[in-house]
Amino acid sequence: MYENMIVIIWLRLGVRRRVAGTKAAYIPVMTPCSALAGGTMANLSVRFLGVRGSIATSHDAQRLVGGNTACLEICTDETRIIVDAGTGLRTLGNERLAAGIKHSTILLSHLHWDHVAGLPFFSPIYIPGHRVHIATGPNGTMPLEQAMQRLFVAPFFPVEYATVAEQLVLRELAPRETFMIGDITVTMAKLNHPDPVYGFRFEHDGQTIVYATDTEHYACVDPTLKKLAAGADILIYDAQYTPAEYPSKVGWGHSTWAAGADLARAAGVPQLVLFHHDPDRTDVQVAAIEADARANLPGTVAAREGMILLANDAQSMSAPSVSVTPVANNGQLTALI
Ligand SMILES: [Zn+2]
Ligand SMILES: [Zn+2]
Repeated sequence: MYENMIVIIWLRLGVRRRVAGTKAAYIPVMTPCSALAGGTMANLSVRFLGVRGSIATSHDAQRLVGGNTACLEICTDETRIIVDAGTGLRTLGNERLAAGIKHSTILLSHLHWDHVAGLPFFSPIYIPGHRVHIATGPNGTMPLEQAMQRLFVAPFFPVEYATVAEQLVLRELAPRETFMIGDITVTMAKLNHPDPVYGFRFEHDGQTIVYATDTEHYACVDPTLKKLAAGADILIYDAQYTPAEYPSKVGWGHSTWAAGADLARAAGVPQLVLFHHDPDRTDVQVAAIEADARANLPGTVAAREGMILLANDAQSMSAPSVSVTPVANNGQLTALI
């Protein structure tokens, strides 16, 4: 939720293309993450391109954590999925152009500015022949294509949506849908935020990473999140506020490291990753929060730009000793190919 709400009166534009239906063709990216990350990644991994929440920042005291908003890559040897399109997406676009990658798949948790602001600056969407697949759950307000049009409209942006429409393939996913992107199984679940937001569970070859940001905890562990994260190796979780700050932020749609630790313990996740850092938070403050969280739950780390984590490394950590029931895989996967 934004601290400063801006009411914008939009000019309605004609819909140039219909929103892709649930049976639309969907082509995943099949380029190894290792091609860009400069290493060998035989396993499921996550790379952080932007870790800040609410709005991008730029300050000397925040350089180690980084100032770009939410954007990361989930990778295997064969598949790369971009998750959220915050300002961290810009450099990723340049990187993909340099590498000659012409297909990108972007999953969006939701459409708040800090999760989509990088889209108009993602170079591949302007180049004929490139395909950028964008998928998310229902936003509760308007079709996905209509929302995308509003990112490319005067007087807020000088390039019209029609310029990028040919490169985009849009798809609205059903909440709780499970589907395949390349060799990664993705399960989504609706979380707790002022506008609808979705968390994602990524599974590949016995390894699991869960992304759950922009979600507020309850008095008890969120049962939806506990199920989504059950038995995962890595849980990336919204930790925008400290437990001391949270009482004045109730209802803003964000959480704390303490709630993340409770969730990780309940779900049997060995590595908690603190994400969506408050824009005012300095490197020193993030490190202090990380230390507090680690004292509570060993293995916890704060996300920083450029950081890469492997699910297999997390598997070697000692998971909390609780019994969990993994998310049931009923075999009914929807292949997005
Ligand atoms: Zn949000
Ligand atoms: Zn956010």
